Amino acid sequence: MKLKLYNTLTRKVEEFKPQVGKKVSFYACGPTVYDFAHIGNFRTYIFEDVLRRTLETAGYDVNFVMNITDVDDKIIHGAAEKGEDIGTFAAKYEEAFFEDLEKLNIKKADCYPRATENVEEIVKLIEKLLERGVAYKAADGIYFDISKFPDYGKLSRLKERELKTGARILSDQYDKENPGDFALWKFKKDDEPSWKASFGEGRPGWHIECSAMSMKYLGETIDIHAGGVDLIFPHHENEIAQSESVTGKKFVNFWLESEHLLSLGQKMSKSLNNFFTLGDLLSKGFDPQAFRYLVLTAHWQKQLNFIWESLEAAQNAISNLKFKISNFQLHKEAKPFAGYLGKFEDAISDNLNTPVALAVVWEMIQSDLLDDIKKSTILEMDKVLGLGLDKVDQAKLPKGAQKLIDEREKARKNSDYKKADGLRQELEKMGIEIEDTPEGPKWRLKS
Ligand SMILES: [Zn+2]
Repeated sequence: MKLKLYNTLTRKVEEFKPQVGKKVSFYACGPTVYDFAHIGNFRTYIFEDVLRRTLETAGYDVNFVMNITDVDDKIIHGAAEKGEDIGTFAAKYEEAFFEDLEKLNIKKADCYPRATENVEEIVKLIEKLLERGVAYKAADGIYFDISKFPDYGKLSRLKERELKTGARILSDQYDKENPGDFALWKFKKDDEPSWKASFGEGRPGWHIECSAMSMKYLGETIDIHAGGVDLIFPHHENEIAQSESVTGKKFVNFWLESEHLLSLGQKMSKSLNNFFTLGDLLSKGFDPQAFRYLVLTAHWQKQLNFIWESLEAAQNAISNLKFKISNFQLHKEAKPFAGYLGKFEDAISDNLNTPVALAVVWEMIQSDLLDDIKKSTILEMDKVLGLGLDKVDQAKLPKGAQKLIDEREKARKNSDYKKADGLRQELEKMGIEIEDTPEGPKWRLKS
């Protein structure tokens, strides 16, 4: 499979090639565990999961690392409000995050490093930035001097915008239109959690953790770095500046950032209070896979407007798909059908075109292939889609139904069609449809 992906760095769809053989280093920015993640966040995690599954299906050996931000302004404020230490406060949201990942059938990362467990690496990286003269000490912390990194803005194409050098930004989430020197380290204030460092006791800023952990777990140059589109600037831009200033090497070959999930026409976010959690969806009776299906109906580079009607449509589609699969009558092991599988792979390898891939799924399901072949083909496709179709149980006949089917078959063979018809009607009342095929009668549960 020749995989083509859109790379934010070059603004082009390029053929994906890892640095070393079939090995892929893949870093994704993980959650800040100060609250329950919302479904806008999960859109990004589903996208990353599909990318990872695609790579694995194509035979790559993927090392997938996702960080957990367990210290930042919001966590400190949240913990203080509850009168808890940040560890206790963050742990319950981290646990909820993992539960949601499992419900959405998102594969576990190979490693989930936490910021607080990597402070030593973060401090070392800041020391190097100070040594190289690209960072400096101010009254409230250590800052990165963006005027010292000529490439600053190359990912987000910031060059054309005005760079306000000298302006200092302490907050982790700063005004996207007014870039400035950003905090690498924030000096200890009051009773905030802090760590000792040669340049003064304090805590890391948000951006530095991803540079430190990406390089620690995956190396100085990695193949893929992903996240949501809102991370391009400043977060990913700052990661490049921090990492490349120290190594002098390219930090990431492929940058992939998935588009927003919109709600009421705006980006779904905590600050706008227009968000839903996975729990909100489940409490309304939706299958978590209905949300995953909904995400797959849109291309990852297109905004997706979340409305309940589309989630209902996705629920109908996934229920219908699962029902059809449960009703497949299997006789023998079969190989996936190469024609449809090839079409499916063409769609996925073309910059992960999941809407087209889903259309191929339905085309295959509605074709006249044998059930055995349909089943093995859909399971192969689902290795990429991750809709959990391998967990669908085969439908079982209600008690006594098999006896009626056998009796009907006997009657048919004896040309007693009146009796056979009566038995068919009896089976229909039980919700069973019978189809006579050259291999014998096939039954299906009626939807
Ligand atoms: Zn990050």
